[in-house]
Amino acid sequence: MKDETKLVVAGRDPEANFGIVNVPVYHASTVLFPTVESREAAHAARAGGERLVSYGRLGTPTTWSLEDAVAQLEGGYRSQVYPSGMAACAGAILAFVKAGDHVLMTDSVYGPVRGFCDKFLKRFGVTVTYYDPLIGAGIKELIRPETRVVYVEAPGSLTFEMQDIPAIAEAAHGKGAKVIMDNTWASPLFFKPFEHGVDVSVQAGTKYIVGHSDVMIGLVTTTEECWGEFVRDANMLGQTAGPDDVYLAQRGIRTLAVRLKQHMENALHIAEWLKGRPEVHSVLHPGLPDDPGHALWKRDFLGASGLFSFRLKSVPKKAIAAFLDDLELFGMGSSWGGYESLILPSDPSHYRTATKWDDANPLIRIHVGLEAVTDLTDDLAAGFARMTAANR
Ligand SMILES: *Cc1c(COP(=O)(O)O)cnc(C)c1O
Repeated sequence: MKDETKLVVAGRDPEANFGIVNVPVYHASTVLFPTVESREAAHAARAGGERLVSYGRLGTPTTWSLEDAVAQLEGGYRSQVYPSGMAACAGAILAFVKAGDHVLMTDSVYGPVRGFCDKFLKRFGVTVTYYDPLIGAGIKELIRPETRVVYVEAPGSLTFEMQDIPAIAEAAHGKGAKVIMDNTWASPLFFKPFEHGVDVSVQAGTKYIVGHSDVMIGLVTTTEECWGEFVRDANMLGQTAGPDDVYLAQRGIRTLAVRLKQHMENALHIAEWLKGRPEVHSVLHPGLPDDPGHALWKRDFLGASGLFSFRLKSVPKKAIAAFLDDLELFGMGSSWGGYESLILPSDPSHYRTATKWDDANPLIRIHVGLEAVTDLTDDLAAGFARMTAANR
């Protein structure tokens, strides 16, 4: 089955739901059993790995509909929902480390995951080494006997470096470490982590799976080999997500293919347009043929999403504010992956440790939404005019 078809059928079951197209919202904590025997049988079946409704926190048909759709699309064994993407990132790491272990973390990782490593993992005696996202097979030199996890994210948050994931996975597996990937940028549609050696894939479903900027949710998908160890910990940590949010995510994912194709097309158009602007120093988008990560992206990825960055030629802060403050179509705010365009200034030089990020050319991250691209370029062009006037 092709992905577009999987998106329509995976995780749905109209026959079990009176013909209703979407799996309904089951609000549940307590689940009643008619007899002592049936309750005991249910608990025994669950302990044996069978999936059945026994308590709200442990899953309902609503949660399974989303989990199954994501697992099938990503090509993993099974998925677990989390109340946010960040909870999913933390949960994925926590399931595979103990005191004394070591984690290798890409220097281009989503910022809050860096905070989790530096402040939270440290308290529990887990050490973290950041590595250059461009390291590829060279990661081998950094793997220690106690390295349990190599964490990758491609392209990198804010800076969009591509990573050679198969090469990193080969090195990690050769030394007994697991590969965890944050696959939010490509979504389950445009990168197939399990075909490239990843053991555990994280999705901030908040972004493209939900797609409408109104729900926090996360998912972790693993290989069959990793599932038992992983899900036991997820359950012990009490991880689940609210049924209404799960419902919105499983509704959102049905249109992922059409949305993502348009985000990709619009973003590539805007990226090319920005490249031609005199105010712009460079554009960081692996889908552009002259991007340093383009060959890897072309080899491993099936498409690009709507998120990328560009760097301005050196301008003072007040000129950047003049550019951004009065944009009409680009909103300024965290997150991305909804239908609307967003823009944010950012300075990765503050937190990089394994690599140096020079701050001479201010970085602007952009999420290109589903608006008409000519309206978006008009908005940006007016912003550039304000920027130039403010810099005079
Ligand atoms: C947004 C984001 C997350 C965290 O997701 P939340 O749902 O906001 O907690 C994790 N990784 C990446 C790459 C993200 O962009």
